[in-house]
Amino acid sequence: MGKFKLKLSFLIISMTTIVVLMTSSISIWISYRNFNEILKEHKTNIQETYVMEVSTITESYLQDAKTDDHSLKLYTQQMVDTLLDERIVSFNLFFKKVLGPIIIVIATIMGFAIWFAIKITQPLKELSKRIEVDEGAQGIEEIADWYNEVNLLKKNIQNMMICSESKIHDLTEQLNLDSLTGILNRRRMDQILHKLIIDKVPHAIILIDLDDFKSINDTYGHTVGDEVLKAFAITMQSSVGEQGLCFRFGGEEFMVILPSMNIEDAVQLAESLRIKQALQETVCGRPVTMSAGITAFTPNVQSPNQLIEIADHALYKAKKSGRNCLCVVSNMRQMIVK
Ligand code: GH3
Ligand code: MG
Ligand code: MG
Repeated sequence: MGKFKLKLSFLIISMTTIVVLMTSSISIWISYRNFNEILKEHKTNIQETYVMEVSTITESYLQDAKTDDHSLKLYTQQMVDTLLDERIVSFNLFFKKVLGPIIIVIATIMGFAIWFAIKITQPLKELSKRIEVDEGAQGIEEIADWYNEVNLLKKNIQNMMICSESKIHDLTEQLNLDSLTGILNRRRMDQILHKLIIDKVPHAIILIDLDDFKSINDTYGHTVGDEVLKAFAITMQSSVGEQGLCFRFGGEEFMVILPSMNIEDAVQLAESLRIKQALQETVCGRPVTMSAGITAFTPNVQSPNQLIEIADHALYKAKKSGRNCLCVVSNMRQMIVK
């Protein structure tokens, strides 16, 4: 069973209700309690003042026998004014007793609301940051997902990232593969050869061309020609094995790169492949032979093209020498192997 996660919508609604209810009930309670206290205090004060004032006025009135209705009215007026003045609650007292506590309660609840809002938005911010820096699905796992929506979002982003990573991986692989034979293509060959030359890693190369291939196509059709190319790719790979890498150079031409292999071993490998191919049964029912130009890296080689040109020249020589043979270029010397 999956981990229980709170729902954000539920959280927001319940938290808002709680905040509103708490704020209003606490405020009402504080107002009611404190205002009552103030009124109680005032009632005592007013009672005392009232008794005093009434006694003073009555005494003065009784002492002055000549006091007429007008003087009595005046005394009464003075008394009412004093009493009304006494009834006005000072702002300081009201602030201290009523407004102050309410402001403190609202500020505390607001502080809590801000803290809670930050807690909700934090995982979302982190998610967008991780996507922006593209740390992959791994980095996203660490993000706190304490509510349901962010948990779902996190899972979907993780799945999306894993999916796109594997798609990119597949596409990169396809970019380096030849669509017909399934072996590495010229693009990949250029990259590998370039790296070997830059790093000055000793290596040998075999440039292969199938003999009279045009006549295969012309006689048996292009589809049969394709099958012959595929079969040759398999034969070549099985002969080379772990010793090197096989590429389709283009058309009916192939390349073998043999890192850390000397030219003698490369010639031996190419010769065994040539014999194997010459004896191989093919889909068209007749042998399809190969010719090859072989050379090896020397420190004066600066670029892949330079090395390929030497091998291509040797291949041309092999063709000129009657096909189904190898031409080796070593130390500026050419040699035909048949
Ligand atoms: P050589 O011995 O001198 O190499 O002769 P060749 O006939 O093999 O050489 P040429 O360059 O005259 O012809 C190469 C042929 O290879 C022509 C082309 O139609 C064929 N070819 C190139 N790519 C493909 C392919 O992908 N499929 C098929 N079926 N044929 C291809
Ligand atoms: Mg060719
Ligand atoms: Mg050819």
